[in-house]
Amino acid sequence: MTSLGDLPIRDDLRGQKAYGAPQIDVPVQLNTNENPYGPSEALVRALGEGVAATAGTLNRYPDRDAVDLRAGLAAYLNHEAGVRLDTGRVWAANGSNEIILQILQAFGGPGRSALGFEPSYAMHPTISMVANTRWIDAFRDEDFGLEAQRAVAAIEEHRPDVVFLTSPNNPTGTALDHEAIKAVLSVAPGMVVVDEAYGEFRRSGTPSALELLPGNPRLIVTRTMSKAFALAGARLGYLAADPAVLEALLLVRLPYHLSSVTQAVARTALSFREELLGYVQELRATRDETVEWLRGEGFRVADSDANFILFGTFDDRDAVWRRMLDRGVLIRAVGPPQWLRVSVGTPAEMAAFRSALKESV
Ligand SMILES: *Cc1c(COP(=O)(O)O)cnc(C)c1O
Repeated sequence: MTSLGDLPIRDDLRGQKAYGAPQIDVPVQLNTNENPYGPSEALVRALGEGVAATAGTLNRYPDRDAVDLRAGLAAYLNHEAGVRLDTGRVWAANGSNEIILQILQAFGGPGRSALGFEPSYAMHPTISMVANTRWIDAFRDEDFGLEAQRAVAAIEEHRPDVVFLTSPNNPTGTALDHEAIKAVLSVAPGMVVVDEAYGEFRRSGTPSALELLPGNPRLIVTRTMSKAFALAGARLGYLAADPAVLEALLLVRLPYHLSSVTQAVARTALSFREELLGYVQELRATRDETVEWLRGEGFRVADSDANFILFGTFDDRDAVWRRMLDRGVLIRAVGPPQWLRVSVGTPAEMAAFRSALKESV
């Protein structure tokens, strides 16, 4: 039997463990921030038709630059206040995880560094490691926000080539104000990535970094169809940035990275935008109700602009997590050590969450 240690693997990968949330088959799955509302019958039919139309052309490579899809994504983003984008400023890939990898391949790499403010999305350091980019941990404030002065001090100290800001942040749900992002842009020597995977779930009045794109060619805003568009299984992430950034990404992307099937599925989902965003409104309402319920029960709860809630505090969160799982409710032990994260599900799933939690603390 050959073990991994016998193979001539890269030195920096030696001893690493593969990362991933447990995929456990239980009745109530509230652990990976998926959208609980599956596609409607009409959307399922349209997806089938879109894929069928593509099937006859699968002997050919896909549109390498996914031009139709990118035009659709730009038009979608232009519905947000103050945003003016076109195909030349929007790029797409297989999930925003691949988007992040491409950014690091182009702007990070050997001898370079990336910095993020913890607690945040674990894939930023993981993908940095994969892309041979040194990772630097900086830290959020006590309340999980990020005060502009502190962010500036961390960047001036470390001079990273790439800065990651997650807003709304995973796993805390915290959104950043423009002041913090502008302060980071004014001192960062390299690229600034604002990961807005949960952008559509932000509370009204919370701004998007998309508004800051004009005049900031080193700003990249990433989005995904995994959460708001309920399309985690299709793998479609995208970004908005200056056209020069897209030129850089063309140098590192794999040829024909986005399959014809993926492009067709994503275009169809975009055409059902109104229906899908209707579910986002429901999830925002369910989130706010759940935050209130948790606070009423005496828990500490981080303000959330996302489709999940971080709550605590527990002396032994793993024991609570396990007791919840025994009751058929899977949540996530992630982030600061005494807290748990629950994704927002349907009203029925949240009722199951509430009763399991009451029995588990
Ligand atoms: C879920 C999530 C993503 C999305 O990843 P995909 O590859 O698009 O599914 C990106 N960033 C953050 C912070 C997330 O939580």
